Order: sequence, then structure tokens, then C-alpha cells
Amino acid sequence: MSKFLSEKLSSLKAYEPGEQPQDKKYIKLNTNESPYPTSDGVIKAINEQKIKDLRLYSDPECKLLKSKLAEVYDTIPNKIFVGNGSDEILNFAFMAYGQKGVAFADITYGFYSVFADLYGLDSQIIPLKEDFSLDVDGFLGLNKLIVIANPNAPTGKEIPLDDVERILKSNANSVVVIDEAYVDFGGNSCAKLTEKYDNLLCVQTFSKSRSMAGARLGFAIGNSEIIKDLEKIKYSTNPYNINSLTQIAGYSALVDNDYYLNNAKNIIKTREITTNKLRELGFTVLDSKANFIFAKSDKIDGKELYLKLKENGVLVRHFTKDRISKFVRITIGSEEEMQIFIEKVTKILGELE
Ligand SMILES: *Cc1c(COP(=O)(O)O)cnc(C)c1O
Repeated sequence: MSKFLSEKLSSLKAYEPGEQPQDKKYIKLNTNESPYPTSDGVIKAINEQKIKDLRLYSDPECKLLKSKLAEVYDTIPNKIFVGNGSDEILNFAFMAYGQKGVAFADITYGFYSVFADLYGLDSQIIPLKEDFSLDVDGFLGLNKLIVIANPNAPTGKEIPLDDVERILKSNANSVVVIDEAYVDFGGNSCAKLTEKYDNLLCVQTFSKSRSMAGARLGFAIGNSEIIKDLEKIKYSTNPYNINSLTQIAGYSALVDNDYYLNNAKNIIKTREITTNKLRELGFTVLDSKANFIFAKSDKIDGKELYLKLKENGVLVRHFTKDRISKFVRITIGSEEEMQIFIEKVTKILGELE
């Protein structure tokens, strides 16, 4: 850190992404990427001409992409915002609506507390219940920015839309962000509720179910006035936030939507198989609606299991936070990858005896 950095930023603890090691080939089950390749349509769309066109700025309005999103999500382009990953949209929401403070769960996506600190916001941390379900009552009547991942990370648990509505109704004077990064793996989207509630921002991403984590593309659906706020911030920071190749890739991925929905179905199937196998091995596994599972064993600590798996060429994610340090989060990979994962876990547990 240089002596020039502003005081406010020098104490900031930045977000720590899951490791992306380049040294050797791991079975990567640590950052919730899709094991499936991008669709043929996306691969064909990024052609030589499109690469030559990189000399031009990208469309700042993202017109084609937004109109396709509107078609697929049965809404209108004015109710859609697209961001450089959904992280950028979350960033803008914290910047725009956090003035009276922000509330989120103790165990949730790690970026929320980073954004809160970045903007010096007052954070109200609402602990999940004993069973890791959301304390919905704790979010009622706060009238400050509320941010909820649904399904939640890293637990994979979801809250029903009825509960989302209760929270929306009782916080009518503040924005409620529902982060639906994992909604395509069996959750229920609140997107339609944006027609009824002007304080809802429903955020999704192409990173998980659409195999495009490296392209950096997220989108949000909300009341057109909220979308205007976000556009204002975008035009005040980076008008060309979505590069032209990503706009094309996103559009083409939506044309091939059925392919991705089918991949999500396969991941759900593999998730259930993996959950059962881990339970047979004595693990406690939370019921997940996401493309990962959260599991712990009484026989081995989370950190130790993470390290042993890494030695065996399998990467999973471990979090040091007390409440969840016994757990590891395991991304659902391909069927073959999960078979190897189970073999390695079995071997590691066997060696303990
Ligand atoms: C992965 C993830 C994101 C970020 O996704 P990007 O679109 O890649 O920025 C946002 N929220 C949650 C809960 C996530 O797990």
C-alpha cells in the first residue's frame, strides 16, 4: 500500500475471490463455474469480423442484448440494466441506495460487506437461524437497503417468494435487492414481482448457469425508475461497461437458452446424486437449490478436508468464519468430476482411521 492511498481506503478489506491456480490442472469445484462449455451459437457468433470490430466502442445502450433479455424474461428493455458481472450491479446498488444503511445476513455472499465498507455504510448484520435459514422477521420494517441472496451462498438455501413479498411490503421506502445468481438451479425468481413493487431489484448473472463467468455479464430487472438510477451511475463511471464481444455472447447465449436450461437440469441431477453419496459417507449436507452444496463431516474439519482434497487435485472452497468453518462448499461439476470427487473423499476419510 502506498502512502498516497486515502485513509478511508487503507483499512478496507477487499473481497477474496476463490483461487484460480494456473500451476496445475485441478478438478475445479471452488468458484461455482459451469462444467459445461458455452453453446455453439456463442462460439460461432464471436467471429473474426466481430474481433476486428473491437476497434469501435461497444454499444453503451446494449440495445440488442437488452431487447433479447426483455423477450426471454417477458418484460421491457426499460426495466433492464446490464452490468459488468452482477458484482458491478451490486456495487452500483450499494452506492445508490445505502445512505440509510444496509442489512444483510451474517452468512451470505462475501462481497456485500466489502461494498458496505467501501461506501462507509452502516451495516446491520442479521444472523441466519440455527438451521441456516434466513431470519425473515429480522428483515421486516428496516427501511434501509436490504440485500438478500436467494438462493443464498454458500448455504444453497432459498426463501419462498411469499417471504420476499413480506420483506418488500414492510420496507416500502427502501430498495430490496434480491441476488439471484443461482436461481436457475431450482429456485423461484422474483422478477415478476417487479411489476408490483417499485422497490425491488432482481439481480441475475450469466456467470453460473450460462457458462460465461469470464465474459463478465450480469443483469437486473426492476422498476424503470430504479433502472434509470443505475444507468446514471453507469454513465458517470463507465458508459461502455459491457464490451462488444460480451454483448454478442450474451445475446447468443439467450438464443440458445434451452441448451443452458438443460445444463442446469443436469447439474440439479448431479447435485442430488452427490448429496446422497456424501450423506452415505456420514456428511451433513444442506438441501441446496444452487449449483453447489455445503457439507461437513464430524470426522474431519473443513480446512483439513479442503487441504487434503487439494493435495488430491480437487479444489473446493473453505471459509474461515467461525460459524461455517467446519463446512466446505463444493461446486457441482460434471458427473465424472463428481465421481472422482467422491472417490477422493472416500479415500481421505479412509486414511483417517
Ligand atoms: C457469483 C455470484 C455473484 C457474482 O457474479 P458475477 O456476475 O460473476 O459478478 C453475485 N452474487 C452471488 C451470490 C454469487 O455467488
